[in-house]
Amino acid sequence: LVTTDTPLPFRELCARIHDRIAAFLDAKDVSDRVKSVQAQTRLSLDIIDRALAQYSLPELSLAYNGGKDCLVLLILYLCALHKRGLTNTSNPSSNIETAVQCVYIQDAHPFSEVEEFVTQCIKTYSLALLEYAKPMKAAFADYLRDTPSVKAILVGTRRTDPHGEYLKHFDPTDSGWPKFVRVHPVIDWHYVEIWTFIRHLNIPYCTLYDRGYTSLGGTTDTQPNPALARQPSSSQTTQLGAVNGAVNGTPKPIFRPAYELEDDYEERLGRDR
Ligand code: FAD
Ligand code: MG
Ligand code: MG
Repeated sequence: LVTTDTPLPFRELCARIHDRIAAFLDAKDVSDRVKSVQAQTRLSLDIIDRALAQYSLPELSLAYNGGKDCLVLLILYLCALHKRGLTNTSNPSSNIETAVQCVYIQDAHPFSEVEEFVTQCIKTYSLALLEYAKPMKAAFADYLRDTPSVKAILVGTRRTDPHGEYLKHFDPTDSGWPKFVRVHPVIDWHYVEIWTFIRHLNIPYCTLYDRGYTSLGGTTDTQPNPALARQPSSSQTTQLGAVNGAVNGTPKPIFRPAYELEDDYEERLGRDR
């Protein structure tokens, strides 16, 4: 989808993403899992389209931290922009430079892999991304001050996240938070559906996920998911032990990739709480 070193022009990128998603939605004779992802995709595109009907582009932003959920959200957003004809340079109401406003709040101890992935995404997807390094509430207060046109922010929270249980598709922020509307287009996607979408559409993702991380925080509170640990077989021990820097003949467990996890509620087992 997006593998070349020279990024596609924004309009072409969105058109290509749109066509891939349209083909995905048209696919018949697919597994039940893919069918459920097709249904989720339609629903999410509908929510994003409602947001685009209600808000102009300068009023909309996307909370982007390089994680898998907001990656799916971003791809769907680009698809929805194409559908509404909002990626065309000749359209005076859409400025290519600011087509995708994003806000990224850097963790106090960020993974370099996450930082690199976000930087790559800025290039690939032409993101107008502002970055803040402070607690979330303060960061959003600064963001609204710096970008006063923003009225609504798309967020990749899902139902099984902390605080996700009672969210609707559109929610004003809670009291005590800077005032804007949160839009939650992927709120009811399951963990496996996120990965099915990413892998089916061949979307590049942060490399940490291939090393058993399933939920990304900072380096001090995030480990690979223990549910994905596997002991190498004895014939592999020497080789893999060496690769993983094992000492005293005890190989470190290696981890299966994030997309092999199934259970929504096991997603955060690698996170300190
Ligand atoms: P994740 O899966 O990591 O995050 C879920 C989604 O949140 C991501 O897909 C992404 O879209 C966004 N996000 C998370 N971390 C970042 C980051 N560092 N930079 C940019 N985007 C990020 N909590 C309240 O109690 N009341 C509120 O009114 C409220 N408003 C919020 C508004 C926004 C725009 C955001 C991003 C968060 C808000 N939160 C609010 C906090 C929210 O409930 C989560 O605690 C927070 O998103 C962290 O999510 P997570 O790490 O649990 O899950
Ligand atoms: Mg998440
Ligand atoms: Mg998080």
